Amino acid sequence: MKYHIVTYGCQMNYSDTERMRTVLENLGYEQTQKIEESDLIILNTCSVKQQSEDRIYGLEKRFRQLKSKNHKLAVGIAGCAASETGLRKDLGNYILDRMSTIDFLLRNRDMVKLPEILQTFHDIGNRDKISGLTSYFNIAPTVTSSKQVLVPVSSGCNYFCSYCIVPFRRGRETYRPMKEIVQEVKDLAKKGAVEVTLVGQTVNSYNPSDIKDKTVHPFAQLIRKIDAIPSIRRIRLVAPHPAEMVDDLINCYGDCATFCPQLHLPVQSGSNTVLKRMNRRYTIERFKEIIAKARERVPALSVSTDLIVGFPGETEEEFQESFNLVKDLKIDQSFTSKYSPRPGTLAAEKMKNNVSHKEKLRRFHMINNLIEKNSHQYNKQFKGKIVELLVEKIDKDGMAWGKTPENKFVLFPAKKNKNLVGTLVPVKITKTMEWAMEGKMV
Ligand code: SF4
Repeated sequence: MKYHIVTYGCQMNYSDTERMRTVLENLGYEQTQKIEESDLIILNTCSVKQQSEDRIYGLEKRFRQLKSKNHKLAVGIAGCAASETGLRKDLGNYILDRMSTIDFLLRNRDMVKLPEILQTFHDIGNRDKISGLTSYFNIAPTVTSSKQVLVPVSSGCNYFCSYCIVPFRRGRETYRPMKEIVQEVKDLAKKGAVEVTLVGQTVNSYNPSDIKDKTVHPFAQLIRKIDAIPSIRRIRLVAPHPAEMVDDLINCYGDCATFCPQLHLPVQSGSNTVLKRMNRRYTIERFKEIIAKARERVPALSVSTDLIVGFPGETEEEFQESFNLVKDLKIDQSFTSKYSPRPGTLAAEKMKNNVSHKEKLRRFHMINNLIEKNSHQYNKQFKGKIVELLVEKIDKDGMAWGKTPENKFVLFPAKKNKNLVGTLVPVKITKTMEWAMEGKMV
């Protein structure tokens, strides 16, 4: 029996997919990259934007064709768009209303129920290997790369930003016990992991019940414990929330050798009045203070962010505040999006989407042009210097690429030495560009 999972959205979803693969492979399913030979297709969905869901609706015809050729084929929806778990006949769901080819829904937190659901469609036989699993967090991931691993620390979100559907779909935050996370990282380290990305919707609000020491923030404690695991060389985060960036966490910069000198902190807007309408629960003054404190500890820190332009009511002055923030803080990367209303959110229901598409586009390009300049300026500091790269890929012509601890791409000739993939190598930077650098191994 063959399965195919399509993963959309953030790294949280990619991490969930790794756990789903473990369940399926222990049930005897085999992964295939070819959707047409699958007996099971799972769409691990993202519903941050309406377009993400619209893409799923567009698959209905394709699924109908595939089902007409393979009567065993079962199709399920997991991730943000699955707010319930079970077989379609038991459930009501807005996606099921529009897609008759979907057979089941699966909330990621109910992943251990997957065998129960699948037995309706397939003869899945021996379940011994997964019988001890009680929660999705204790499912060991089947990792895509054994060197770079994603480790979830929590699920859900308590923040309720006015434009975002995630808390309604993923529910409130739940946390994994710290012991369990540390053990998982140790196990992954034994299998060769060198880079760990801790993931959570607001990863730094981590607050489990299994810790006694309340004098240091639990998330900072977790980072220090992972930093102490000998073969782990890099720790990254996706995605911290500015309101949860406490000093204990900022102090990990510089103190923990493996905590990468890169801070991706989603600001969303540079204007306090817009932040209020977004219900972001911090001010720009506080955001600037966090960056300043982190840079005091790591002067060459790379700072990246998420920004929304054209939020309801965003005036030219408010947009200029975002522009100036990017300029003043020299933010070197931004995932900028043009606001689009997400049905079911406060912003979509109660606020007027009154910035024209043309104007959103202008603001979007202004930010991106500025970011491009900042990025190039940031990269220039590495010219002539030796950086440590974690090699991710080597192409057929022998060009390799990897990332620095600051998360910057570097290309270099590897002379078809495929053994370099997954290793840390020193590379001297010879050329810097907007989004990448070039170098040679030393
Ligand atoms: S913090 Fe805000 S934007 Fe992020 S997932 Fe939660 S509600 Fe959505």
